[in-house]
Amino acid sequence: MDIGIIGGGSAAVGLLDALARETGTPGAVTVFEPSQGLWRGLPYAADLDSVLVNSPPAIMSIRHDDFDHYASWLGARGTAHLDHLLGAPLVPRAVYGEYLEHTAEKAIAQLREDGWRVDVVAAPVEGAAATAGRLALRTGDGREHVVDQVALCVGGGTPHDHYALGDAPGFVGAPYPLARALDDVPPDSDVTVIGSGLTAVDVVVSLAARGHAGRISLLSRTGMLPHVWQRPIARRPTHVTVDGVKSLLARDGEVTVDGLAGLLRAELADAGEDLDDLIADLRAAGTDEPVARLRRQIEAIADPRIARRVLQVASHTVAPYAWRLLPERERARLRAVSRTAISVASPMVPVNAVRLLELFDSGQLEPRAGARDIVRRDGRFTVVADDGARPADVVVNAVNPPPGAVPRSAARLVDALVGLGVAARQPSGGIVAADSRLHVVGDLAGGGPFITSSIPGIAGQGAATARAVLAAS
Ligand SMILES: Cc1cc2nc3c(=O)[nH]c(=O)nc-3n(C[C@H](O)[C@H](O)[C@H](O)COP(=O)(O)OP(=O)(O)OC[C@H]3O[C@@H](n4cnc5c(N)ncnc54)[C@H](O)[C@@H]3O)c2cc1C
Repeated sequence: MDIGIIGGGSAAVGLLDALARETGTPGAVTVFEPSQGLWRGLPYAADLDSVLVNSPPAIMSIRHDDFDHYASWLGARGTAHLDHLLGAPLVPRAVYGEYLEHTAEKAIAQLREDGWRVDVVAAPVEGAAATAGRLALRTGDGREHVVDQVALCVGGGTPHDHYALGDAPGFVGAPYPLARALDDVPPDSDVTVIGSGLTAVDVVVSLAARGHAGRISLLSRTGMLPHVWQRPIARRPTHVTVDGVKSLLARDGEVTVDGLAGLLRAELADAGEDLDDLIADLRAAGTDEPVARLRRQIEAIADPRIARRVLQVASHTVAPYAWRLLPERERARLRAVSRTAISVASPMVPVNAVRLLELFDSGQLEPRAGARDIVRRDGRFTVVADDGARPADVVVNAVNPPPGAVPRSAARLVDALVGLGVAARQPSGGIVAADSRLHVVGDLAGGGPFITSSIPGIAGQGAATARAVLAAS
């Protein structure tokens, strides 16, 4: 059995770790990764210390069935990175990259000890062809690698240039690594950040950490900021689980939003809470003044109520499963509230929330909603939003592509796999396997919800892929 893993980021690490822990007939694994950031992908590559992981340790474990795996690796190192409001360590993402490297190296050592051959090829896979029941992967250096099973772990799409600013001087089209992107930003310049999600938060806190003195504007359609993480609690959901969704299906013959809400209502009732309170708060997210809401969210970090915590966890663990069972009309109901759902599912860490609030309060940072246009004229940008037209010296694109977007680096490969009939494109984006030899892991996997994958989701998919690959041998 020859396995080709295309892409060497976190998804590949989760897969290798799971493969090393399964028992099966040893074969060969080849990992293809062209970048310098082997095992880290773009998110966890070397960058500024202000670029932090976005989640507490319990949900950063790349081993899907061991919540303590990452926390144990971090050990005493974590104390230097304690987020006091969260009560948990939040390390620079590059430090998390070391954990991924460590985990991958251990998995490879284990696989080799068990008789596997493991190779890493530092080249992109650009094409695929069928050959005697197997798949020939063509790398950028023109070589062919014939494999039996392919795991496509190429990550998410490339940021879209919404205002066609191209290579205009002062426009940063792709923010990561921020160490490079912000290097040329003059400290007194007027900066507009496009977007108000987690990437925009990274940009703002990193500008501040570099001592930026100029005005910073957060330009977006709605002005909505990510919610703020609350202190983790030990309680695990008992109703809002994959088994809970299975029971709904068995009972009602279908899964609906109301059925899922029923699970959440039962979960909250057990804790003495009312779902209607949560719904009222979430409805207000669309109309609340963003800075006032941020302030309230910071005040609620230690709030013991479980409601928002349950929703956050479920959006990464139960939602990917439930989404596939929802009829299209029910998916449309959720898509209509996608902005709020994303901001709850992927909150910002307290240390960043507090920094943002300080910057808002000082007047250096301002939210600008109703983004309309950005043009470059006479050496400056004009940024048009609901409050009119304003100039900017620098514009940083912090809008992430939606899940299902094909990364530019894998476009030709995806065309080839679809052309071979091994993969099928999905109408809502992404691709799915159309052949038992292909497995799609991470954001490129089609048919899933609109929330981008996080480490727990990727770890779970990696483990499922390891089992499927071994079952095929
Ligand atoms: C900026 C950012 C920060 C994030 N922070 C967090 C966080 O703190 N917590 C959390 O839970 N989730 C976070 N996420 C979400 C998730 O954890 C990451 O997106 C995760 O790294 C995805 O892993 P991946 O392996 O699917 O993709 P990636 O990490 O992007 O890795 C894909 C790899 O595939 C390679 N590749 C691409 N094309 C080819 C090709 N043709 N041939 C060979 N190789 C190829 C790329 O070079 C890359 O190394 C973050 C996401 C982003 C974008």
